[in-house]
Amino acid sequence: MAPLMPAVFVGHGNPMNALEHNRYTEAWSAVGASMDRPKAILVVSAHWFVNATAVTSMSAPRTIHDFYGFPQALFDVQYPAPGDPLIAQRVVDLVEPTYVGLDADSWGIDHGTWSVLVHMFPRADVPVLQLSINASQSFDYHFDLGTRLHALRGEGVLIVASGNVVHNLRLIDWSAPGAGADWAHRFDDEVRSIMTSDPDRLALAATHGDYRLAVPTPDHFLPLAYIAGLSCAANSATRTLIEGYDMGSLSMTAYELAGA
Ligand code: ZN
Repeated sequence: MAPLMPAVFVGHGNPMNALEHNRYTEAWSAVGASMDRPKAILVVSAHWFVNATAVTSMSAPRTIHDFYGFPQALFDVQYPAPGDPLIAQRVVDLVEPTYVGLDADSWGIDHGTWSVLVHMFPRADVPVLQLSINASQSFDYHFDLGTRLHALRGEGVLIVASGNVVHNLRLIDWSAPGAGADWAHRFDDEVRSIMTSDPDRLALAATHGDYRLAVPTPDHFLPLAYIAGLSCAANSATRTLIEGYDMGSLSMTAYELAGA
């Protein structure tokens, strides 16, 4: 059997992490450097949250600057990785009968993806595809779709899920860099305990008393459902790559499902 590529969940946090060098970006760089070169990277980003399940299939995806109010230097970032139309079709075939549309000209590479990949694969020479998060579907749908992507890991495809376990922009405290509120710690601790022991229980995190504060909208949490699904398919728990908090209401925790 071909070796399995790792799969990774990254807490991407502030878009400025694309330009900065800190302990998070160093951890992302290190995990990229630690693995065999992937054939392609399939990214589930919090920032492609739409009412459809789609995979990018263009051969030259554009770099999308999907934010405002940041320095020009961030708008100048380009991540010119190619796409891979054949792997996009492979994703479509693999997850049948779940329907995945081919996106030939709409999306591209958003900042949930490139703010991480500029550190993980700075040469931008590995093909990148994005898989949208279908906003009309349940947690279980996303978890199940994650399990169906398992075979890609044996075909040289690195799966990266990019979001934040705790992500409440309304409660951001700009005076608290590097800090997390008590509720943020409690929820992140609970999720860590699940992801490092029994990731197929991740749905239970929604019953935690701090869930509504930590996950006011599902977009940044759901990428983790894909890694939990992949963990279940591999019958393996994840390990924590790095953990921490920012501005009170973000957790930066990242998880790796090891290759084999
Ligand atoms: Zn984000």
